[in-house]
Amino acid sequence: MRPARALIDLNALRHNYRLAREISAAKALAVIKADAYGHGAVRCAQALADEVDGFAVACIEEALQLREAGIAQPILLLEGFFEPQELVLIEQHRLWCVVHSMWQLEALEQANLSQPLTIWLKLDSGMHRVGLHPDDFAAAYQRLMKCAQVEKIVLMSHFARADELDCSCSAEQVAVFEQAREGLDAEVSLRNSPALLGWPDVPSDWVRPGIMLYGATPFEQAQAVAARLQPVMTLESKIISVRELPAGQPVGYGARFVTERPTRVGVVAMGYADGYPRHAPTGTPVMIDGKPSRLIGRVSMDMLTVDLTDLPDSGLGSRVELWGKQVLASDVAAHAGTIPYQLFCNLRRVPLLYLGG
Ligand SMILES: *Cc1c(COP(=O)(O)O)cnc(C)c1O
Repeated sequence: MRPARALIDLNALRHNYRLAREISAAKALAVIKADAYGHGAVRCAQALADEVDGFAVACIEEALQLREAGIAQPILLLEGFFEPQELVLIEQHRLWCVVHSMWQLEALEQANLSQPLTIWLKLDSGMHRVGLHPDDFAAAYQRLMKCAQVEKIVLMSHFARADELDCSCSAEQVAVFEQAREGLDAEVSLRNSPALLGWPDVPSDWVRPGIMLYGATPFEQAQAVAARLQPVMTLESKIISVRELPAGQPVGYGARFVTERPTRVGVVAMGYADGYPRHAPTGTPVMIDGKPSRLIGRVSMDMLTVDLTDLPDSGLGSRVELWGKQVLASDVAAHAGTIPYQLFCNLRRVPLLYLGG
């Protein structure tokens, strides 16, 4: 059996969820869209079901998968519906629904529902992706209040740059939000992971942690609260071949790496078809039998190569951690010019093994 696999530590997931609630003193929707950022949405939802205030996903397909697995907690559709026909299922499965555009508001007003819905009305406070314009926000709220299809309204917005701790732009977005919701008597939700970890004064009756649940920091620099997160996923494999090369020998596709000294090269069963980033350069950290080493040469589809020269006790069959509790996914991502979000979401082919279920 191929030794590549991803271990998913559900105790760490629960620890991170509790940390989100503890530091925010708010209700927390566990964001498990995109198959829980590659961690397996159903298993993650089951692990959190006893304590969670609710879940958030990107679309109705993701929500129905959870309902089919018996998840009964509230589930918020972060982009609402894509077609008005979805409202039937939204009602039937008691899903919470974001309204981010006027066309959704109009479709909701015209829908024929027998039970009213919980609506999260989204403001564009500066990200300029989805959300209502600040000038339209209060009027949209009043329309929803009058709408027989609506039972409860939560006001929300999303940050564009909350991971930049020295930037005033998040405070500006909060100011836009505060002005737009002036006089509206409803709960609010602003904070995603970086805002939750880094912006303690931002109001939020509901927080929406995503990446922090999986134990990865959204920040490029060290941050005190993020240091308390526990990595959930460990991507690991084994050395399947070893060779000794003299100095001056190329390794792998494109001869991107040429040995500078006599080198012991280890071949690991892990490649970009598993989601390991092809753009990770020579020098990207790995752990081999618990000791630090580095990637060398180009990542192939099914294999990659590491430097064993300074690890004489390691060789065929040695355990390699690509990311996890020792090699942080955020470090690998920084080397590869991406973010831990994308590393996790790109995971494929490797079996997921759950611990602490
Ligand atoms: C994905 C998402 C989140 C979670 O973001 P993280 O940075 O992973 O915490 C929160 N809110 C909305 C609207 C999202 O789309």
